[in-house]
Amino acid sequence: MSVLIHFVKKQKFKLTIELVPATIWFSSLYRLMSEKSWRKLKEDVYKKEGRKCWICGSTKGPFELHEFWEYDDKKHVQKLIGIHHLCRLCHMIKHFGLWGHTSKGKEKLRKMGLSREDLINHFCKVNNCSREDFLRHEKEAFELWRKRSLFKWKQDFGKYEKYIDMK
Ligand SMILES: [Zn+2]
Ligand SMILES: [Zn+2]
Repeated sequence: MSVLIHFVKKQKFKLTIELVPATIWFSSLYRLMSEKSWRKLKEDVYKKEGRKCWICGSTKGPFELHEFWEYDDKKHVQKLIGIHHLCRLCHMIKHFGLWGHTSKGKEKLRKMGLSREDLINHFCKVNNCSREDFLRHEKEAFELWRKRSLFKWKQDFGKYEKYIDMK
């Protein structure tokens, strides 16, 4: 039994919810770059990875750049480790705190003709998993978010530092 629980906990999904701690909301590479540099970065990513979603492979745009962060929970450093294009649905899963848990997000979703269920279905399709798997992952993502939101975080933009031109 304990082996099974261990396995379930270790389940790795292709598409995950990644909630940025509340103490560093609104601090991103995007906010430190001019529009011109951001467009250039988009072109660079298209050239390197093609016009498709980096996670699910969908070729149906529009695509949005998403910043992938890594968290050092001992030193409280948030490090930018990648920037890739995602399709709209994959990107909404990444920011599920906004789209699935705020009235503003849900309202915007409704105006686009989408619902929380559409996002959950996309998650299950991409990860080939059940709705229960989604709900468990969602709960874990929020638990982690609450823990991380208790701390102040230092940011490390890694190899993307060079793109910053608005500091
Ligand atoms: Zn996708
Ligand atoms: Zn994003």
